Amino acid sequence: MVVVMDLRATEKQIKDVKKRLEEYGFKAHLIKGVERIVIGAIGDHKQISSSGIEIMPGVEKIVPIMKPFKLVSRETKAEDTIIKVKGFTVGGGEISVIAGPCAVESREQLLETARLVRAAGAKAIRGGTYKPRTSPYSFQGMEEQGLELLAEAGSESGLATITEVIDESSLTLAAEYVDMIQIGARNMQNFHLLRAVGRINKPVVLKRGLSATMEEWLMAAEYIMSEGNYNVILCERGIRTFETYTRNTLDLSAVPVIKQLSHLPVIVDPSHATGEWRLVAPLSKGAIAVGADGLLIEVHPDPCKALCDGPQSLTPGNFQQLMEELLPIAKCVGRKLAVGG
Ligand code: PEP
Ligand code: MN
Repeated sequence: MVVVMDLRATEKQIKDVKKRLEEYGFKAHLIKGVERIVIGAIGDHKQISSSGIEIMPGVEKIVPIMKPFKLVSRETKAEDTIIKVKGFTVGGGEISVIAGPCAVESREQLLETARLVRAAGAKAIRGGTYKPRTSPYSFQGMEEQGLELLAEAGSESGLATITEVIDESSLTLAAEYVDMIQIGARNMQNFHLLRAVGRINKPVVLKRGLSATMEEWLMAAEYIMSEGNYNVILCERGIRTFETYTRNTLDLSAVPVIKQLSHLPVIVDPSHATGEWRLVAPLSKGAIAVGADGLLIEVHPDPCKALCDGPQSLTPGNFQQLMEELLPIAKCVGRKLAVGG
């Protein structure tokens, strides 16, 4: 449930309500919206009637949240969440693009990609340093050496940086080097890891699991938020269906559905969704048209030589062309593509 505070409630009144909730065994989350201040209360509902919260000074009302996801729900926070990342925001009127190779492979590869995607208008450079591969014999990532390169690429280009973590030790290390953390599709229901990422204070891109329903995906976000990290960006990256022509099936309907259910921003990864570079541009355009807050796109300076996901990677030239083509589409739906700066 949420405790809706009077807009004129004082800091002390808010603090007292939080304290009372905690005394009654609730976990209290303060959520400050533009239109209202609410305290999300997670715990045993039956306790609330005896707690006297409803009549405490500054309290307007108590509203039960019917959905299984609480902090993530639009019922808790009506307006869109805007997440601040180094140099840009996700979830406002602007659409930002994160781009880069599937995996960090070398200094030259990463720095060159960073320079080129920045010139084309990307806001962040991605690069896997811990790769969860289907085969144990495939390239597994450069680990800490790769994180060092990401940090260098970030400071040289001015771009924000993002990498995937696969367990608590890679999370602890990655948090020292990068601006955003990615939880991959395969770990969407690694609840221990979700809780751990909930305890750090960096924006998290949470990919949809390979066969996850939207509710399971939102519950995964709830795990992160329940630990106090509210900077969650959801990423639709395709789901597994009977179709085999594409690597996955991009579920574009997830974007407007999630936006109805949740205040969190949603971005789309057309690279993993399709597995085919030729399909990346049309689906990027579709994603913007249905309201995505951003894109995550794989770009490699020489896709034929990529150690991972070459067939779905755009060349820097194709990426630049796509960015140009996205400008009018964003405008068409009343949004702006965040480029430059
Ligand atoms: C990736 O972004 O490189 C990746 C492995 O993605 P996903 O978890 O969506 O498969
Ligand atoms: Mn990849």
